Amino acid sequence: MAATRTFSIIKPDATRRNLTGAVTKMLEEAGLRVVASKRIRMSRQQAEGFYAVHKERPFFEDLVAFMISGPVVVQVLEGEDAVARNRKVMGATNPANADEGTIRKAYAESIEANSVHGSDSEENAATEIAFFFKPDEIVG
Ligand code: ADP
Ligand code: MG
Repeated sequence: MAATRTFSIIKPDATRRNLTGAVTKMLEEAGLRVVASKRIRMSRQQAEGFYAVHKERPFFEDLVAFMISGPVVVQVLEGEDAVARNRKVMGATNPANADEGTIRKAYAESIEANSVHGSDSEENAATEIAFFFKPDEIVG
């Protein structure tokens, strides 16, 4: 199977606790390769745009406030079946339901401050990658 790409964010709860390396190590050990990475402070406009699919959800305002509360690390990950591979190592949205060996089981603080984002489909991965990266910033 050919390598595919997905989009990841190391969220503010994880950067605050200096877990960028620890989270990235788990991604790499799961067979994913970081082919683009940058540490940014998201603007409110970026966070609202990125999470627009959730704007009717009751947690939307809190989620946006959380995502702009500190730096994040946006990454493009490459690997075999990258979207599913990343979702598997991330673990369930609510860390209380996350399996052993997953990033959220190891590090998430709550259902909101859950350390990582990962695209949920190939189509969304392409959209999310293009939201944060120019093609020449991705080096496979
Ligand atoms: P995932 O990140 O696992 O794909 P969703 O796409 O459903 O989960 O939600 C996006 C993000 O919104 C979650 O990662 C989490 O930070 C936040 N979130 C989801 N559900 C809740 C909730 N019930 N209460 C607070 N925050 C939530
Ligand atoms: Mg999601």
